[in-house]
Amino acid sequence: MKIIVTGGAGFIGSALVRHLVGEGHVVQSIDLLTYAGNLASVKLVENKSNYSFLQADIRDAAAMKQAVSTFQPDRIMHLAAESHVDRSITGAADFISTNVVGTFTLLEAARAYWSGLDSHGKDSFRFLHVSTDEVYGSLGGELGSDELFREDTPYDPSSPYSASKAASDHLAKAWHRTYGMPIVVSNCSNNYGPYHFPEKLIPLTILNALAGRELPVYGKGENIRDWLYVEDHARALDLIAAKGRLGETYNVGGRNERRNIDVVRRICTVLDELVPVEQPREELIRFVTDRPGHDARYAIDATKLENELGWRALENFDTGIEKTVKWYLENDWWWRPLQGTYDGERLGLVAVGA
Ligand code: NAD
Repeated sequence: MKIIVTGGAGFIGSALVRHLVGEGHVVQSIDLLTYAGNLASVKLVENKSNYSFLQADIRDAAAMKQAVSTFQPDRIMHLAAESHVDRSITGAADFISTNVVGTFTLLEAARAYWSGLDSHGKDSFRFLHVSTDEVYGSLGGELGSDELFREDTPYDPSSPYSASKAASDHLAKAWHRTYGMPIVVSNCSNNYGPYHFPEKLIPLTILNALAGRELPVYGKGENIRDWLYVEDHARALDLIAAKGRLGETYNVGGRNERRNIDVVRRICTVLDELVPVEQPREELIRFVTDRPGHDARYAIDATKLENELGWRALENFDTGIEKTVKWYLENDWWWRPLQGTYDGERLGLVAVGA
């Protein structure tokens, strides 16, 4: 199978590229290499003959048309996006431009290519649009309650990020309904694992705790997220792209709900065991003013994906978080060069000059 992966130098895109190349597919990664894109994340596959990389912007119509018609993919898996909620609050323009206009541009390039295929090619081609559960807004309910995001949950995004992703989901679905393009959409919960850019909660906590810096936690840390190990997500995306029903949405989640404060505490405990220090690292936790529009709870019902396509999350959160902490301890070659690119005044999260 010849597969284009957009955003293939990002956190999830690089996990997907490593997975697909390992499965023997011929993969072309297309990525602009913004601050979040890092070719070091695909070092394991960079010399494989079934992997290639193209630095290009999904908003560039000519470049996208050229890339698709040259590579002649059987599948396009679209992950390129601006992905950080905090950045979307302070600068929404890039989110609208890449997530909305970029998705439109890529859909049009894919449509021009797909329209020119013979009937066999048309039938076997697939476009997977990769999105987030944040499009559904916020759930009420307690940790573990059966109020969950389902595929028919109405869209109700809270942040510029989730609104831009919601818009792009609607475009993908409209291109299926209007033009008959073979498109599937996936909406996934929060991912974690190796190669995660250190501005996000889990890697930020690991690296700050390791350095003895404060651990910023929004509000009282009561917000609930449903965590999925990134390699489980990569397997789900492969399956959905290959076997998902056209025009359908599949929710992806690991049934691993946790309060943010419990995630941060768990990381501190794991690190204290692996790299003992005098003061327990939990003492570094600092509660900071809550994020505006902060959704209270996300939790995914993945029944459709599990029943229709036989997918299961394989990693449980406790083992997954241990693996992730160990990965950061053993791979400072990957994250040290990024230091100084995400330290800023607000929470230590905002990139200098970005
Ligand atoms: P990321 O920020 O780590 O990676 C995004 C990649 O897209 C980067 O490599 C970046 O260079 C590239 N990119 C950005 N703008 C581009 C442009 N204009 N043209 C080409 N490339 C561009 O994001 P991620 O966490 O890997 O997320 C990937 C996708 O999965 C996104 O669409 C995101 O909305 C979705 N998603 C993420 C999560 C999560 O927890 N991280 C959960 C569900 C869904």
